[in-house]
Amino acid sequence: MTNYPELHMIIDGEKIPVGDRRVHKVVNPATEEVIGELPLADAADLDRALEVAERGFKIWRNSSAQERAAVLQGAARLMLERQEDIARIATMEQGKTLAETRIEVLMNVGLFNFYAGETQRIYGRQLVRPAGMRSSVTYEPVGPVAAFAPWNFPIGNPGRKLGAPVAAGCSVIMKAAEEAPASALAILQCLLDAGLPKEAGQAVFGVPDEVSRHLLASPIIRKLSFTGSTVVGKHLAKLAAEDMKRTTMELGGHGPVLVFDDVDVDGVLDVMVPGKYRNAGQVCVSPTRFIVQDGVFDRFRDGFIERAKAIKVGNGMDEGVQMGPMANPRRPDAMQRMIGDAVTRGAKLGTGGERIGNQGYFFAPTVLSDVPLDAEIMNEEPFGPVALINRFSSEDDMIAEANRLPYGLAAYSWTKDAARQKRLAREIETGMFCVNTTMLGGPDTPFGGVKWSGHGHEDGPEGLMACMVLKTVHEG
Ligand code: NAD
Repeated sequence: MTNYPELHMIIDGEKIPVGDRRVHKVVNPATEEVIGELPLADAADLDRALEVAERGFKIWRNSSAQERAAVLQGAARLMLERQEDIARIATMEQGKTLAETRIEVLMNVGLFNFYAGETQRIYGRQLVRPAGMRSSVTYEPVGPVAAFAPWNFPIGNPGRKLGAPVAAGCSVIMKAAEEAPASALAILQCLLDAGLPKEAGQAVFGVPDEVSRHLLASPIIRKLSFTGSTVVGKHLAKLAAEDMKRTTMELGGHGPVLVFDDVDVDGVLDVMVPGKYRNAGQVCVSPTRFIVQDGVFDRFRDGFIERAKAIKVGNGMDEGVQMGPMANPRRPDAMQRMIGDAVTRGAKLGTGGERIGNQGYFFAPTVLSDVPLDAEIMNEEPFGPVALINRFSSEDDMIAEANRLPYGLAAYSWTKDAARQKRLAREIETGMFCVNTTMLGGPDTPFGGVKWSGHGHEDGPEGLMACMVLKTVHEG
């Protein structure tokens, strides 16, 4: 049994304990027990981290591609060695099942190894000019990065926030979520133990708005990387704009799922139901609005309800549990408010709709159908274990519903009709679109949205290039 570790910040390689700083109490969402005390940075801590990051950039920008690859591969090996400990810590602080947190470690391993390869492929180009003149297009690391990682993927988000800047030759100050800090620290520790200079990778925690304002006000920081809600993303983008900092913004979604009459309903449900309730629905690409054609609507809704009822909810540490608690008390509160509003407006509650037990932030897998479009839950990201299933007849109306909201992160479609697949792929306004699958991520493919879901990408060569800037050198 892994014990939850002592918490600290990491500044200039030093583990900064609570001391006389303010504290955030970390709570196990399955038991509501306080499992750790996290120091919160004061202004002096943040200034120190900034000064170190400036030095760190000067060191790490001069590293060779091979050095960066060696650090990333070394960290990947250490994550594999430490997989079980990291997974257990993440389940303790975030709630999701051990099966899920083990996969998160593997996602990071894949990403770090992919970036290790990409460091060798940062090409520029040279243009031949008359009389020996030439123009060279080169890439340089953007500079010190301030990276903010949320709590829903306590291992995977920090992996993304750290991996790309390290691969590019940037220094990074990461502020991961105060609610799930130990997993983030464990990932940074793997990089440091694999040889990342202590100045190049640091972790601070604090009052989020204080930390982001402080870091983004500093001219030392040249890039903001944020994953979280659209509201906070817009606020941070404005702060970054004051100093023209580059930004990568991975924001909210409201994933539409188009299900057409020609599908094998059971086959689709076998994939979509576990997809919906993964991480208790606290996933930015979660399938949320099920836009289902007339001919299969009743069977789809009834099958969804039957499968949702069968999901085993419990402590993510326990064998056989399929869905853990929600990560914090704000989420079940939000679920109750949004579901209550939808039902008041006429939505039909197929199953769930309430908390489970009186200890831990457990919420029942929920299915709502015939949900009016003016219900809050049809417009705001629910970020919870709720499927919204509505009936449509025409393809045009289904596409219009998919594109109705200002979000554009991930969308899913199920149909055997090849011509329709092509049309959907063209018409649906999202950064990621799935045809007959839910597998939308991989280390080698860009992950990101359009519209209010943000801009820029993580993963893929694009994730690395997002931490670099172009310089063109003209020589006479
Ligand atoms: P929130 O919007 O306050 O926080 C979301 C994340 O942003 C947290 O990790 C938080 O620490 C961070 N944050 C908040 N204010 C910040 C600031 N001023 N500067 C820097 N970081 C800041 O709310 P929450 O209750 O934690 O989550 C609620 C909503 O956030 C969810 O409903 C969901 O829409 C969204 N969310 C999205 C993702 C994602 O993967 N895109 C992840 C977590 C939360």
